[in-house]
Amino acid sequence: MSTEAAAGRRPAPRDDLVAMEGYHSPQVDVAVRLNTNESPLGPPEAFVRELGAAIAGIEWNRYPDRAATGLRTAIGGLHGLGPEQIFAANGSNEVLQSLCLAYGGPGRRVVTFEPTYALHSHIARVTSTEVVTGRRTDDFAIDLDEARRTIESAQPTITFLCSPNNPTGMVEPEEVVRAVVDMATAVGSLVVVDEAYGQFAPWSALALLDEERPLVVTRTYSKTWAMAGARLGYMAGPTWVVDQLDKVVLPYHLDAVTQLAGTIAVAHLAEMEARVATLVEERGRVVAALDDLPVTVWPSGANFVLFRPDALDGDHVWSQLIDRSVLIRNCASWPGLDGCLRITIGTRDEDDAFLAALTEILT
Ligand SMILES: *Cc1c(COP(=O)(O)O)cnc(C)c1O
Repeated sequence: MSTEAAAGRRPAPRDDLVAMEGYHSPQVDVAVRLNTNESPLGPPEAFVRELGAAIAGIEWNRYPDRAATGLRTAIGGLHGLGPEQIFAANGSNEVLQSLCLAYGGPGRRVVTFEPTYALHSHIARVTSTEVVTGRRTDDFAIDLDEARRTIESAQPTITFLCSPNNPTGMVEPEEVVRAVVDMATAVGSLVVVDEAYGQFAPWSALALLDEERPLVVTRTYSKTWAMAGARLGYMAGPTWVVDQLDKVVLPYHLDAVTQLAGTIAVAHLAEMEARVATLVEERGRVVAALDDLPVTVWPSGANFVLFRPDALDGDHVWSQLIDRSVLIRNCASWPGLDGCLRITIGTRDEDDAFLAALTEILT
């Protein structure tokens, strides 16, 4: 066919999609990468060995277990829950998308409290769900009066919380989560608590799960479990939510390898918990070092720390760090985060390289 014959009007995507930007997280080739909150170490060697052996036994001509029952049972076991209370997907982002497909959509609204994880509002918009934004206080806390006003006027079907909150590191106090769940219940909204960093925090909203409460908690293998490459996340919640998510997700969306990886990882819980403890201790060391520099540091319950240089421009400090082969996350132009930067806790050596470079830039 000639190009002339093929020329015509290009099919138009949805109007709301045309107006939208994609999700960007710049990757730069540097020696020290502390920008995406990954684990600095790979998973335990024994896990890699066991997974390799298990992969050799996969029946490749067959579809994987559609219900992923083995995986759901293993995950449920981590939290004292049954497989019917767990929904697993390709990263917690696919869990969030499934929630928006089931409970959002045209004519419906979600509420987020900004600044928070950008994918909550992004995924909501991709599913044609309107986003209504509540503001946090200057120290990034949720103000309950603002929350009540926002939820009552928006009448959302989903209310997103994130604890510890990315990118601020703040852990939502239990009273706040309980109060927001009460407000949401009154208007018929589901509350989603994104706990991608839950293992680093002193408490979890998993403790509040109840078949009668419209509350779900999402978690991921990408950070604590050192398995960002596997793309696996999950939701724990009432069975009536799990049932709806099973309807919207594509059949056989979780491939055989992912299911095996997630199941085998659970058998290595002790190593994962030991690494979390090491990273929490290292976080204390990095925060103490930042406290001695001319920067403002926010307390963190996660594996990253948000800070703002007192006198220098955030963009400038970020590129000066790249010149010294250290990549961190530049939040300087994100709404509500004027001049802020976020560093992922890495190995001691990586963190020392970051601290030495930052000290040189700031002093
Ligand atoms: C990293 C992160 C996720 C993880 O997404 P995956 O799709 O599981 O890799 C989810 N929520 C928050 C807040 C995150 O920071």
